[in-house]
Amino acid sequence: MTISFEGKIAIVTGAGNGLGKSHALALAKRGAKVVVNDLGGARDGSGQSSAASEEVVNEIVAAGGDAFSHGANVADFEQVQDMVKQTMEKWGRVDILINNAGILRDKSFAKMSLDDFKLVMDVHLMGSVNCTKAVWDIMREQNYGRIVMTTSSSGMYGNFGQSNYGAAKMAVLGLMNTLVLEGAKNDIRINALAPTAGTRMTEDLMPENIAEMLAPEYVTPGLLTLCDDEAPNRTILSAGAGGYATASIFETDGIFLTPDQQTPEAIRANWSDATKQDKQQALASGVKQSEKFLAKAMAAMKGA
Ligand code: NAD
Repeated sequence: MTISFEGKIAIVTGAGNGLGKSHALALAKRGAKVVVNDLGGARDGSGQSSAASEEVVNEIVAAGGDAFSHGANVADFEQVQDMVKQTMEKWGRVDILINNAGILRDKSFAKMSLDDFKLVMDVHLMGSVNCTKAVWDIMREQNYGRIVMTTSSSGMYGNFGQSNYGAAKMAVLGLMNTLVLEGAKNDIRINALAPTAGTRMTEDLMPENIAEMLAPEYVTPGLLTLCDDEAPNRTILSAGAGGYATASIFETDGIFLTPDQQTPEAIRANWSDATKQDKQQALASGVKQSEKFLAKAMAAMKGA
């Protein structure tokens, strides 16, 4: 069945360039009315301009779609609230939020200033928090919402020189995990995209022919599957160069030690059993971890 966004209102942050632009154009092409948000600064977050987001709006309108641009800095809650207010005044609802805006301030941790650490956390983590907070009650009242966080392999797996970025990108997954539980009864689904794309963010990391193979347009079809009516929930979709995969955090089944056995030496002696992956699981909430360990302890008590 064709995936349609007819009648849906979508906010895409950081949609003046790169992946956000590709997402905004694709959502509009399939019928969504789109708020094209972009602060319009440089890759490191300095400066601002409305030129890029206005160009995206013009492209959408020229193709027969509906869009407006808003220059909110996602790290500023008041500006984000104004963007959502304008969206509600114009279209009366918000169905989809794509938290995509981002910057880089790469340096090895030894050389990184705390200001650069905080700024990256502010844009990626607090930007996602601010935009989600501003639409949350609207989505709850509508009993409908689709939110996508943009994470990164740098957060999930690490990347030299990106401790700030990696921490922020992993943090949005923590945000997703709890919001999934809190949004479930109002059909608010939250997923995450882990893209790899040739954009200005990665332009000095790859030769041009590789960047072409990693066009943002090869990521966007994955994004569309995360925010339509049939979207999954709590899925991390990695996408790039035509490849699509999912990522999860698994926990091993582990071992149980009685109180008199609970020494670091005993844990080390049983390390291969504690880390054995054959019965590993992706736990549905934090409580499931306590339940797993308590079940082992109770089984041992019954057996004693
Ligand atoms: P990009 O630099 O081309 O686009 C990011 C956009 O966000 C820019 O247009 C910028 O003006 C905007 N922006 C930055 N700070 C903002 C703010 N405070 N408020 C509003 N807008 C702001 O980069 P991209 O590669 O398209 O990145 C998009 C997202 O994908 C980012 O979250 C990035 O971290 C993530 N990502 C990208 C890659 C990749 O390979 N390109 C990999 C993993 C994750």
